[in-house]
Amino acid sequence: MAEQKKQSYDVIVVGSGASGGWACKRLAEAGLKVALLEAGRPQSDKNFTEHKPAFELKYRNKAPEIIRKTRPIQLKFGVCNEYTYNWFVNDLEEPYTTPADKPFNWMGRLRITGGRTNVWGRVSLRFCDWDFKSASHDGYGEDWPLGYKDIEPYYDLVEKYVGITGSAEGLEHLPDGQFQPPVPLTCQETLFRNRVKEKLGRTVMPARTANLTKPINGRGPCHFCGPCERGCMTHSYFNSAFTTIADALATGNCTLISNAMAHKVLMDSEGNRARGVLYVDRVTRQSREISARAVILCAQSQESVRILLNSATPQYSNGLANSSGVLGHYLTAHVRSGGGSGEFPALGAKASLGAPVKPLGIYIARFRNLRNDPPYKKFLRGFGYEGESSTKFNWGAPGFGEAYKKALREPRTSIDITGFGEVLPRWDNFVELDPHVKDVYGIPVLKIHMSDGENERAMIQDMGDSAGEMLEAASAKNVRSYAHPSAPRWALHEAGIARMGSDPKKSVLNQFQQTHDIKNLFVMDASGFTSNPCQNPTLTIMSLAVRSCDYLMSEMKRNSI
Ligand SMILES: Cc1cc2nc3c(=O)[nH]c(=O)nc-3n(C[C@H](O)[C@H](O)[C@H](O)COP(=O)(O)OP(=O)(O)OC[C@H]3O[C@@H](n4cnc5c(N)ncnc54)[C@H](O)[C@@H]3O)c2cc1C
Ligand code: SF4
Repeated sequence: MAEQKKQSYDVIVVGSGASGGWACKRLAEAGLKVALLEAGRPQSDKNFTEHKPAFELKYRNKAPEIIRKTRPIQLKFGVCNEYTYNWFVNDLEEPYTTPADKPFNWMGRLRITGGRTNVWGRVSLRFCDWDFKSASHDGYGEDWPLGYKDIEPYYDLVEKYVGITGSAEGLEHLPDGQFQPPVPLTCQETLFRNRVKEKLGRTVMPARTANLTKPINGRGPCHFCGPCERGCMTHSYFNSAFTTIADALATGNCTLISNAMAHKVLMDSEGNRARGVLYVDRVTRQSREISARAVILCAQSQESVRILLNSATPQYSNGLANSSGVLGHYLTAHVRSGGGSGEFPALGAKASLGAPVKPLGIYIARFRNLRNDPPYKKFLRGFGYEGESSTKFNWGAPGFGEAYKKALREPRTSIDITGFGEVLPRWDNFVELDPHVKDVYGIPVLKIHMSDGENERAMIQDMGDSAGEMLEAASAKNVRSYAHPSAPRWALHEAGIARMGSDPKKSVLNQFQQTHDIKNLFVMDASGFTSNPCQNPTLTIMSLAVRSCDYLMSEMKRNSI
């Protein structure tokens, strides 16, 4: 086993995605020496293909069976395609397992600098006190050990740097932020927004997303080419690879160690302090050690908890920093298998090949179980919807000849909305190490146990019913709504398996994402979420990471780390 001795580091950060990127930027810009261990290879603008037509690809982006050979799980979500598949984990080399009756699609497993932010949907929403203190309101689960006022300045800071387009709506339960000018709604979106407000009092708004409408820090505004998940040469969406990580590296204080698969956190001989990380070089398959004064895991929720479970010691035999016994438990993800679609008058719009493509649509704010309403009888908590509209040729037009050509050009103008709902944190949704399976690097893999409860089932049904209700209220035609059971699980917003809390007996982390048990060990991704509100998580992941880094630095100054 080789040891990296030449450089001494203040902090090791594991993972270069949304959370790791911010941790590196914050610490390196403050002058700390940071080693960034990233399991994937470096990302570069040369890999971005947002303007490349499919006919230039070997298989025209039409041969999923080629990708399925190595990435059968990742392929289930369309952002893993012929353009991007080699950014994703090889599912066969790095598997996970599930019980036979609880299939779980762990998608969005990236192995490249920037992690999931390379391909994310960019919807960026704040949580509010109604979310942080939901247990006090409805009696389920635990409150977060922090409130909105604690995180608000960090939301401001992160939003200004990331660049979030959006409109101020004045909603208490979906706080406004530091927005760039919104991307205007299409005609049918405007019609939908107005009618839903007028008839049902619900708020439809331009989606709040990390796409620039004004330049910042050398990044150009979006020019509406569409497929952000293939990268962006003008850096107009937020991807850690060319923003936070680039800034951290530019300080000269951050060293990126690519292809470094963290295996376990190493402890000192007394077992009280983390002294470094053991990792496998994915190219040479050699194990290496690296040391620092503090360790921060930012590898994405399940990956960070896998590292902690693999770091068990005689003192922490069921996983490092797990004196509470809750490590791995309370896995949450969003349910999103209810929604609907409908057609609207074209209002003068025409279908066109090669027209600008808006990379964002609409968002419908949560309307169940709000502060001033009586509790909704069918379920706890709530859901919002992401939506998009399109104007397409009428490909299904009947007939032939001149009549067909005319009918084909009659535009089909529609809106689709999909619910994103909160999943309650339950003990029996959990991850553990599978004692029988290792990845290709010899590291034990996770077994994931996840299923819906009554609350989720009732919520999904309401997502479908309410989608239909809103589309009908907006006088859409051919309204179709759906509400499917969400198994096999569809997950991109997982959280909660090393949860924060004030009570070390019931939680792994304190409000600064520091483990209660080991003072110089932090976990700054979504595993610390005490609950997983229906708003998309990443803006909160990033803001919390900055806040926790500030705390870490203040503790280092006091010499208590
Ligand atoms: C298709 C898709 C759409 C999404 N849309 C949205 C959205 O609209 N809004 C939203 O808020 N969120 C969205 N998300 C989720 C969002 O991308 C994640 O919440 C966010 O990126 C998580 O940040 P992270 O730092 O925890 O992990 P990641 O960004 O995934 O980064 C983790 C990094 O750690 C590395 N890593 C993993 N294991 C190890 C290891 N053992 N050793 C070293 N490195 C390791 C990985 O290679 C990766 O680079 C979406 C995700 C996907 C996949
Ligand atoms: S749509 Fe905008 S943000 Fe997305 S790739 Fe194109 S220019 Fe970049």
